[in-house]
Amino acid sequence: MFLLSDDSWEIKKTREKGYGVFSKKEIKMGTVIGDYLGKVIRIREYDLENDKKGLYFMYFSDQAGIYPNLNEPGPHLLNHSCQPNCWIYIYRGHSLFFALRKIEAHEELTISYLLSPKDETCAPCTHICRCASTNCTSTMHLSKDKYEYWQKFQNKERKKTKRVRVVFGTNLPKLPSYPKTIPHNPIYKIMSSSVRHSF
Ligand SMILES: [Zn+2]
Ligand SMILES: [Zn+2]
Repeated sequence: MFLLSDDSWEIKKTREKGYGVFSKKEIKMGTVIGDYLGKVIRIREYDLENDKKGLYFMYFSDQAGIYPNLNEPGPHLLNHSCQPNCWIYIYRGHSLFFALRKIEAHEELTISYLLSPKDETCAPCTHICRCASTNCTSTMHLSKDKYEYWQKFQNKERKKTKRVRVVFGTNLPKLPSYPKTIPHNPIYKIMSSSVRHSF
């Protein structure tokens, strides 16, 4: 579910990556873009083979993941970039997407899919990245050290959040209220500190 006003985003065809989400006007740094809603699925029952390329399943807790309704617009439509302009903030267990920096009008909104390092379980690998950022690694898989770095960061962040109870097999309900912005997040510093930390 997008949390931006309807007049500030649109879905458009991209040259290389199918559809993507674009800003229609400037989005301020920290603005909450949307909540990753969908069906609550048990991770151990999740069938990766049926998930087109495995890119839509969002981790929720040790046991639960979220699978979005692909017929509805939402944050799952954001394409991957090695230098994304959006990031994920865990709020009451929900994955909120927010603007990592100021996003100009008509820019594509992007996120890192944060895929685990490529190994023999991903073959043939279809996770080719064509994000065209200056430090594109050509793959959506993270390197081992970036992945570990991110896991550590995320685990620390997750501990700060109170998770809502979920019912397996039902849709994750939207929260009664959402923050408009994510003002203080250590990720801003990490992501702007150097190219070395681009994902
Ligand atoms: Zn792959
Ligand atoms: Zn890339």
